[in-house]
Amino acid sequence: MSNLSKTDNYDVVIVGMGPTGLVLANLLGLEKLNVLVIDKFITPYDLPRAVHLDDEIMRILQVIGVASDMEKIMRPNLGMRFVDADNNLLLDWPRPQEIGKNGWKPSYKFHQPDLERVLYKNLKKFPNVEIRKGYEATEVKNEDEKVEVTILKLEENDACLVKCDFIVGCDGARSFIRKKMGVEYEEMGFFEDWLVVDIILKKDRSDLGLFSIQFCGTSQPATYSPGTRGRLRWEFALKDQKSHEDILKTDYVWNLLSRWITPDEAKIERKAIYTFKSSLAEHWVKDRLILAGDSAHLTPPFMGQGMCIGLRDVSNLAWKLISVIRGQSDLSFLKSYEIERRPHAKEYISTAIKLGKMLGELSSNSKKGKEGPIHMKSLAPKIGNAFSIKEEEFARSLSLQPKLSNGQYVDDIVGYKFCLFLSEDLASQFSGNNSNIIVFNSKDHPTIKEYLENLSTKALLIRPDKYILGGAKNLTELNELLSLEFINSVNNKI
Ligand SMILES: Cc1cc2nc3c(=O)[nH]c(=O)nc-3n(C[C@H](O)[C@H](O)[C@H](O)COP(=O)(O)OP(=O)(O)OC[C@H]3O[C@@H](n4cnc5c(N)ncnc54)[C@H](O)[C@@H]3O)c2cc1C
Repeated sequence: MSNLSKTDNYDVVIVGMGPTGLVLANLLGLEKLNVLVIDKFITPYDLPRAVHLDDEIMRILQVIGVASDMEKIMRPNLGMRFVDADNNLLLDWPRPQEIGKNGWKPSYKFHQPDLERVLYKNLKKFPNVEIRKGYEATEVKNEDEKVEVTILKLEENDACLVKCDFIVGCDGARSFIRKKMGVEYEEMGFFEDWLVVDIILKKDRSDLGLFSIQFCGTSQPATYSPGTRGRLRWEFALKDQKSHEDILKTDYVWNLLSRWITPDEAKIERKAIYTFKSSLAEHWVKDRLILAGDSAHLTPPFMGQGMCIGLRDVSNLAWKLISVIRGQSDLSFLKSYEIERRPHAKEYISTAIKLGKMLGELSSNSKKGKEGPIHMKSLAPKIGNAFSIKEEEFARSLSLQPKLSNGQYVDDIVGYKFCLFLSEDLASQFSGNNSNIIVFNSKDHPTIKEYLENLSTKALLIRPDKYILGGAKNLTELNELLSLEFINSVNNKI
């Protein structure tokens, strides 16, 4: 048993360097926590998986400082259409091309390995984050106030022991940490095998278009999902009894693709069979063991939200971990993570299941009597209710990101902290607070004035994850909100 490095005692050990673990490590790195992040693989998974992310995720990347790097290698998403066998439009989900209320375009196409590379590069900026690749977590034990983790350096088969306050399992669908927690999945009812084929174009095929298309009402529902920089994806529901080996044969795959593209126009980058599942871990927090990302939930990919849900998890979790580690909140505070995130994730998964089922069921016949295509809008669910704060209608929803009068966006100034939007009259009565909270006075920023007026409130308290903690109509209500201890731990200068 050897030493891992300079310390064997961390605030947080993160198991897994997929997008969830990388974003969590970046957020905790920003806040100068003492973090160890490990992955059993030395090289990142370099094949396409996620291709879509939304504007809420862009705000998380903005806070970390990598959104503009990503923007250069992404493209705005036009939207998704469901069509029948004769190409009649059944469902339309267009995505606006203008900058929206979150300060970004509503939806983008990207390449998951690009995002992981950008996040990994950024992580190296933080001396307080130790990165270990080729290391596997093989045992965890809950001690009194600590977790003891056995980590195996795979190349040398050499194990070491480290201690930490918390271990976060960002270790994917087959999560070792989830097993150690003894947590089962709640199965939500979707379980289908699909063939996923990613191709790289050799010739221009812009005629295929940039809308994602779901082909419904046929014996083999299929999806076309154009990506970035010459990458296109098709997915096919596997309905026949062929063996997986036969399905993955190159000739068979090209035959499926022949309706759209031929081998002289493109090369296959990857073909794989995935079982699209809908599962939600029964519990996300157990003592000092925590789940985030695919270890906590799995969704069929029809909304392009699997990774996005995981990044929302860690944006919700990181400031709570900081608060507990800095002694401003007790351990039970972390229950709010599961209470808030689980129902929110469930809403996305349920909608993805509905879309998946529509693919099989929707046809021109099933829509008889209904005029025109169905129009779909993006989801914006509230997080679960964890804090007993007097609630306004807007509490627990994602805040907008107003553009300030100097042209800057709010999140660029606030970063991963709490902030306060105040009406002019409440700002004149407010004498500040002890939490270094960043205050925006509506007198100086017409966009904030308009936002407060639209919500009929005089104050909005926004959390580091950009969800609205609450509002206030007068100074008493405002002081009540600001008396919450956990605000100080995140906002105090380190
Ligand atoms: C075909 C397809 C299309 C998709 N499309 C989209 C999309 O458009 N949009 C979207 O948002 N999502 C999409 N997803 C989902 C997205 O790819 C996943 O949700 C995302 O990769 C999950 O990230 P993660 O970090 O939680 O887990 P993973 O990416 O699985 O990373 C887990 C990491 O943990 C490591 N690990 C595991 N166990 C250990 C251990 N014991 N010790 C050390 N390391 C360990 C693994 O090596 C791995 O690197 C898609 C998925 C698929 C398959």
